[in-house]
Amino acid sequence: MSTVAEFPTDDPAAHVRLVEAALSRRATDIHLDPLQDSYQVRLRIDGQLVPHLALGGEDGRRLVNQFKTAAGVEPGTVFTPLGARRKLEVEGGRPVDCRITLAPCLSGPKLAIRLLDPGRFERRVGTLGLSEGGLGRLQDWLRKLEGMFLVTGPTGGGKTTTLYALLHELASDNRHVATIEDPVEYEIHGINQIQVDRDHGLDFAGGLRTILRLDPDHIMVGELRERHSAEAAVTAAIAGHVILSTLHARDAVSTVTALRNFGLANHQIAAALGVVVNQRLVRKLCEECREEVGLSRAQQEWFESEGMEPPARAWKAQGCGECDKRGYFGRTGLFEVWSLRESDHDLLLAGASESRMRERLESRGHAGLWSDAIDKIESGVTSFDELQRLGLSLPWQ
Ligand SMILES: [Zn+2]
Repeated sequence: MSTVAEFPTDDPAAHVRLVEAALSRRATDIHLDPLQDSYQVRLRIDGQLVPHLALGGEDGRRLVNQFKTAAGVEPGTVFTPLGARRKLEVEGGRPVDCRITLAPCLSGPKLAIRLLDPGRFERRVGTLGLSEGGLGRLQDWLRKLEGMFLVTGPTGGGKTTTLYALLHELASDNRHVATIEDPVEYEIHGINQIQVDRDHGLDFAGGLRTILRLDPDHIMVGELRERHSAEAAVTAAIAGHVILSTLHARDAVSTVTALRNFGLANHQIAAALGVVVNQRLVRKLCEECREEVGLSRAQQEWFESEGMEPPARAWKAQGCGECDKRGYFGRTGLFEVWSLRESDHDLLLAGASESRMRERLESRGHAGLWSDAIDKIESGVTSFDELQRLGLSLPWQ
């Protein structure tokens, strides 16, 4: 951790230096938090907040003001509810898209800066971390383009990155791809992207209706959040449009329950659904310093008590110069990919319960999230500790 002595806040471009330092540490966010008479600067790296700098109160406020000026926020402003989006030019003239959000706290103004690094959204489906089987099912869908593609999981689980990877595959000169997003995180060349604007009455459902009038081939709806957007998306999918979207659900099968809870009928869900991906993001062990260790007796017993074969090998985080002494470097996805078959559609039509559908999938050897997790523990991609930290629940193996 650096100290105030190493950070030149009297530099008129100190905020740019901070963004450069954050990028060099692979941070996605910068937080400037006011304490009683000082400021704490923290970075979000691989999903976790880590301390970066301790500044005096005056230096911290000066830095906050530099960001406000750069973002075109009036000096007197204490609150930017949606965030001001600006490009900052860093070393080498490279523009970095920043979303700057300001909030008044008791001890002073707090600033959060999201660094919209295009690299995060330029992933292709082959580099998301899917198993061979999972990737094959994604590519199969991309070839046939049958049924709606839903990416599910919690907030911060990497759903948008997966959708953008699919959009990259779909974007081409002879296809019209349109999206309605909240917010548009990253611009993709050759795609019409619309931003949700509730102040002007444009929500996901309204945006989708607008897009349908633009004669699209493929449509991405940022999120199915409530009944209207879910209904509009499912109706468009049944009408033959290729729809991609995201949804909060803890596993692939519970997506069906979420859609039922939005008021959709079984016949609508059965007719619309093509592929459901459920995913989480886990930190990757640093390949330079990870250490192979056996599972502890308690860990083995945990797997056994959950009815799973424990991984044959496991690895532990250490920490070295390469990974900033964190033991982890970068993140990857854990995936469950459910490509619906005719028998699944029959079960849906018959109104089968979640547990009935799970039984059916298990009996045909469907690989759930934990199956992918065990593979990634065995191959040293991630650690058991990391999965425990995530508190990954166990819908089934
Ligand atoms: Zn390391």
